[in-house]
Amino acid sequence: MPTPRSLTGAAIVLTAACLGASGATAHDAEVPRPEARRSQSALNVVATLEHYGAIAKLVGADRVKVNVIVKGSQNPHTIAVKPSYSVLFNKADLLVANGQLIELGWLDTALINARNANIMEGHPGFVNCSIGVDIIPYASEEIEGTPFFILNLGVGGTMRLGNHHYWLDPGNTTIIAKNIADKLAEVDLPNAPYYRGTYEQFATHFGEHLKEWDKQMEPFRGMQLVSYHRSWNYLLRRHGLKVFDYIEPKETLPPSAAYMASLVDRMKRSGVKIILAETYQNRPIIDEIARQTGAKALILPSSVSEDLGIKTPFDFFDRLYRELVPALQAARTS
Ligand SMILES: [Zn+2]
Repeated sequence: MPTPRSLTGAAIVLTAACLGASGATAHDAEVPRPEARRSQSALNVVATLEHYGAIAKLVGADRVKVNVIVKGSQNPHTIAVKPSYSVLFNKADLLVANGQLIELGWLDTALINARNANIMEGHPGFVNCSIGVDIIPYASEEIEGTPFFILNLGVGGTMRLGNHHYWLDPGNTTIIAKNIADKLAEVDLPNAPYYRGTYEQFATHFGEHLKEWDKQMEPFRGMQLVSYHRSWNYLLRRHGLKVFDYIEPKETLPPSAAYMASLVDRMKRSGVKIILAETYQNRPIIDEIARQTGAKALILPSSVSEDLGIKTPFDFFDRLYRELVPALQAARTS
């Protein structure tokens, strides 16, 4: 399992450089002591992805005000930095990030412009939600030569990258919630017992739903399906299903005509009946592969998304399994 990598290392170096010779002292003075926070005012939380914003709302409840940058209906791989992100970060007490480089390309820039050292990685106001998650590594042939890989090398990354879609295993939801609750308690010490309480309540409630979802998926162990992007690997690993292949030959790369023809041929020969894709993927490509193979295309939300009427992680996984379970059932018996 790769160790979580620095998202904001470059930003911290640049910030330190801007502070000049007295950088260390000025920097230390800027970080407020946790006990200095007033317990009465709501904490300003900014989540990079809407899914994490929804979890932060449940754990922080009425002690937090949550803003999100990337909506659940958006493609999180193609985000362009906007000045409004830095405005939100400037006022934030806590930044909740996915990590594993999904925010690569915009978060470092937005943080540099935000001038708020408290929420930089390594400071109390930064949550990397992937801490403690069993991250699936990419094989090098899945990422080499892709924009994602080249961008990572450009900021000093190594070849060993992990799949960033870990929130799609419902079993990781309580790990994410715990990471957020621990940091809320750290930046808002007077309310620490409150956050521990809301987390425990959430974890118990979520655990009950998880048992039910696991039970629903049990009959489909060993089934194979095609996935558009490498998004569903965590969900499928949890339930013992296999990815036959991907529509994207490499991370975020669109398929060529030759690749699509070969995929269609292999799907037909192996009898793969289901294609999983996110709502933001290229619909004509999915429809064409479905048409040629007779497989069912399941277009699924891949995050909490108020635009799609999904407000909480409970709603999200309920919706996911409500679509997935009958489709798997039909594919198994057809
Ligand atoms: Zn991805």
